[in-house]
Amino acid sequence: MVGISNILKETFKLKKEKEKKNLEEVDKDQHKDGDTKSHNREDVSDSAPRTAYRRWCLPLNYEDLFNVNRPTLGRYMDVVVFRAFVCAIIKYLGFNSIHKIYHAGEEFGRSLGVKTMDDLIMIFRELGIGIVKVVEESPVIKVRIYESVFCSGFPNIGECVCHYERGILAGCFESILNKRVKVVETRCCACGNDYCEFEVHVLGDLNK
Ligand SMILES: [Zn+2]
Repeated sequence: MVGISNILKETFKLKKEKEKKNLEEVDKDQHKDGDTKSHNREDVSDSAPRTAYRRWCLPLNYEDLFNVNRPTLGRYMDVVVFRAFVCAIIKYLGFNSIHKIYHAGEEFGRSLGVKTMDDLIMIFRELGIGIVKVVEESPVIKVRIYESVFCSGFPNIGECVCHYERGILAGCFESILNKRVKVVETRCCACGNDYCEFEVHVLGDLNK
């Protein structure tokens, strides 16, 4: 696999157009309010969208992350690097970091712009997050992830650990269902299972 799918390309194209529009609106509002405060423009290249800078506190957006210039090494790295990074965040930021990791996953999941379960299955596979299988659709949606990027092969520590992945699922299901959702991991390779299993709970409408 050398590139990204058309769904992702389309998602980022739409996202960029939306950010450009937001930026124009922010500029219009500031002009109207007479707000001439600096926004650290010296830290941001002229082409970087300031909306992304504010959200991330870095002049990068998700589209930038997909631009990979590694002619020798390619797009992919050993999953150990990702695992070590997540473990380090939890170790150094403490238990509260788990919620932040979940919400970070949620935001990334939203950015993927999936519209159907087939999109979700394809994107999880393409990004190497895992192999998704829907095992129940009612009354609660249950999905399994085989070969999870984070936990497959972990010893049994008696704890579900895939907080970033359940966040990504939450963001994707929010887009698919157009509802606020909470995703809970009920089985995990780190609990001695051969796969991870997640329940998707609908919390309500998006605007409530
Ligand atoms: Zn897991």
